[in-house]
Amino acid sequence: PAEQAKSKVLNVGTDAGFAPFEFQDEVSKKYVGFDIDLMEAVGKQMGYEVKIQSMGFDGLIPALEAGNIDALISGMTITPERAKKVNFSKPYYKSGLSIVVKMDNNNIKDFKALEGKKLAVQIGTTGAMEAKKVKDATVREFNTAPEAFMELKAGGVDAVVNDLPVNEYYIAKAGAKDAKVVGEPLNSEEYGIATAKKNTELIEKINKALDELKKNGEYEKIYVKWFGKKP
Ligand code: GLN
Repeated sequence: PAEQAKSKVLNVGTDAGFAPFEFQDEVSKKYVGFDIDLMEAVGKQMGYEVKIQSMGFDGLIPALEAGNIDALISGMTITPERAKKVNFSKPYYKSGLSIVVKMDNNNIKDFKALEGKKLAVQIGTTGAMEAKKVKDATVREFNTAPEAFMELKAGGVDAVVNDLPVNEYYIAKAGAKDAKVVGEPLNSEEYGIATAKKNTELIEKINKALDELKKNGEYEKIYVKWFGKKP
């Protein structure tokens, strides 16, 4: 219907280098992924048109605080420190950190074995925070997760510390046959959508939409599409 009232726009920030949650489709150049589909479904549920923009992960919370975006979705772990600056939605995905090493590396099998090693991480992430706690490790921070993986491939570091589902996707889909995920997940983390601290009305609407998408099966559909299994 051409005469429908113009829909409201929700400007959403993401760091589109975190497949399968958010990444740029090589052919269409569109941002795609689990988070993108979920955010679009949330927006639709709320009667908003979602406009996605990509920026550096460490710039997302500042962009919210500055009012440049209304919300963010970026595989972002709900942490007490971040929750001081933003409103997080209810958790929408359970995650955790793991390690990626070269296929022929048989020394690193767990987090303990990272001591004294060279590690690559993405700047501003929980992976970076945990890597910095490892005794005598040299931590090299990259702007994006793909750059951290590239450094491992190039032999500049011994391991990457990053979110398990993203590591698994990298190994399975990026054709990274020379790398593997090792060890148990270090911890348990949960991802949340975020809005500016003052925007409590918006986060309530987002929570309500998430509840509805879980009830009507839409959340499960999106989950199965990206992870090939039920949540
Ligand atoms: N979940 C991790 C964090 O919140 C990494 C997120 C990301 O790199 N997009 O720090």
